[in-house]
Amino acid sequence: MLRDVNCGELRAKDDGKVISLAGWVRKIRDHGEIIFIDLWDRYGVTQVVFSHEDFDLKEVKKLGLEWVIAVSGKVRKRPPDMKNKDMPTGEIEVYASGLEILNASEVPPFVVQEDIQAEKELRFKYRYLDLRRHKALNGFIIRHKLMQAARRVLNERYFLEVETPILATPTPEGARDFLVPSRLQSGKFYSLAQSPQLYKQILMVGGFDKYYQFSKSFRDEDMRGDRQLEFTQIDLEMSFAEKEDIFAIGEDLMVSFFQEALGKKISTPFAKLTYREVMEKYGTDRPDLRNPLVIEDYSAPSKSGDFGILNSAGMIKGIKIKGSFSRSEIGRFEEIVKDSGAKGLLYLVNDGGNYKGSFVKYFKDFSVFNLEDGEMLFLIAGDKAGEVLVPLGDLRDALCKKLELLDEGWKFLWVTDFPLFEWDEENNCWIPCHHIFTEPVSFVEDSDETPGEIIGKQYDLVLNGVELGSGSIRCHNPEIQLKLMKIIGINEKEAMNKFGFLLKALSLGAPPHGGIGLGFDRICMLLAGENSITDVIAFPKTLSGLGLMEGSPGSVNDEDLKELHLEIKKGE
Ligand code: ASP
Repeated sequence: MLRDVNCGELRAKDDGKVISLAGWVRKIRDHGEIIFIDLWDRYGVTQVVFSHEDFDLKEVKKLGLEWVIAVSGKVRKRPPDMKNKDMPTGEIEVYASGLEILNASEVPPFVVQEDIQAEKELRFKYRYLDLRRHKALNGFIIRHKLMQAARRVLNERYFLEVETPILATPTPEGARDFLVPSRLQSGKFYSLAQSPQLYKQILMVGGFDKYYQFSKSFRDEDMRGDRQLEFTQIDLEMSFAEKEDIFAIGEDLMVSFFQEALGKKISTPFAKLTYREVMEKYGTDRPDLRNPLVIEDYSAPSKSGDFGILNSAGMIKGIKIKGSFSRSEIGRFEEIVKDSGAKGLLYLVNDGGNYKGSFVKYFKDFSVFNLEDGEMLFLIAGDKAGEVLVPLGDLRDALCKKLELLDEGWKFLWVTDFPLFEWDEENNCWIPCHHIFTEPVSFVEDSDETPGEIIGKQYDLVLNGVELGSGSIRCHNPEIQLKLMKIIGINEKEAMNKFGFLLKALSLGAPPHGGIGLGFDRICMLLAGENSITDVIAFPKTLSGLGLMEGSPGSVNDEDLKELHLEIKKGE
């Protein structure tokens, strides 16, 4: 046996025991006739003492950092002044009598330590060294626990864990597909599933009633801080479900996650607001409710003066705060709102009954703005939500940060009743807000409603300003499904071509159904207290899509390309 205890388990009560343990040499303190080694493994760190009195130190002096060794010896209590309260094993040390070198290590490219200093690229290249730390392991322990907790919650509620194909046909989640050339079907491609969306719906038609899986989702998109080309969702679907049924499952999952990861009780039901309400109040569809600031309507007071800009604006909204800012700080806020679509930023301050600001000369009576002494009001005027509410949403974040108003704690929110479609300025067409399989709240063909006014049974789960997942009640009526596709420019022929299998399934006894996909990496990141999902993904890619350790994506030789009926154009 190479070891009979691990590096995290010995305590004062083990004094006198003869044991063996194995691990990595994390620290060496060589005092000449006595050498101390911190031995590391997944479970902890144990101090091992090699003394010249009982040991030939020649072998020990060969050891370097990150060498893999097995040690045998006697556990002994440390003298009181040598105890280390910061280490769970800090009351003892192992007085070595035997040493076996299991593997030497080259000098590591960076110092492996809890508080790692190396650049991200270097850490990704030598990911195994980066991971060989308790801080790194913690994210994966939490991930593991949450995975087991999710299985427990869903299994208890009769959900069946089912795997669906990764090699799929292109699905319309809205992102670019990864394509895989088919060797057997010349000129044809699979796409890596962006999500199991259609498969899970079809499982409902197949009578499975409740399904889940930890699904890998592949989206060939530009990566930002919390995005990866492949990520994991807890994907689930339920038959005969209404949105409240999905909310209940989502909340059960979150309750068990918080219990498991943080030992924390969170209360349910979570707050619910419609898309319209959150946009009006917070200027974003994923508001951080820890931020106490809200957007309010100032149309009436703003139009009581004779300021042309305000009098002609279709929409005037604002945020009131306690305090005031310097001209340069206001300039910074102005930049923020202009970057997100506003034409300008107006402000008004009540300074002991004296009103200062960017539009004071147009007003005689300021009491209409209802500002108490020491309060400041920021206003944005415009004609569309994009010019007013969205910039105010960004201003709300910036003000909260500057004034340090963010509350402690965890604030969940279900955002419901999203519009089914949004206008895509770039491509001049309607696109689905979530995906095209969402059922409208009501859908009357030939009504005067523009597609932008149709509300869908879509919901998002938001936690502290982070979107944890999206889902919807699906359209289970093939005729309505076809009509929705028509709105985004998919005619019947194309619909049959691409989604004939779904439409056929919907016409062969499809139950009403709905579900959700929860971003598992993000949930793990938040609960592990990390800032990036790469801290909870074992082998992440860089922002430019590179797997630095294994060197992906790699080149393919001409023979392999030929078999796939592909040719790379030289020079491209
Ligand atoms: N398939 C959806 C997504 O990946 C989630 C869902 O609607 O269940 O966004």
